[in-house]
Amino acid sequence: MDSTSKKPDGETCVICEQKKSQGIHLYTSFICTQCEKKIISTETNDPQYKFYIKQLKKINTPKIFQ
Ligand SMILES: [Zn+2]
Repeated sequence: MDSTSKKPDGETCVICEQKKSQGIHLYTSFICTQCEKKIISTETNDPQYKFYIKQLKKINTPKIFQ
């Protein structure tokens, strides 16, 4: 057991669209720990919050325009 080794490949976060090894799964998508924390700590009147919501909407309605 080697718990200190890092995976070279993580999963692509739907928010920041970068590969991260740590995060949570939401439906079929992945949100990295950093983005999860940012979403939680961002005020709803913050312009950045709209960006997060936009990214999160992709999870719930991936084929809305088809
Ligand atoms: Zn992320």
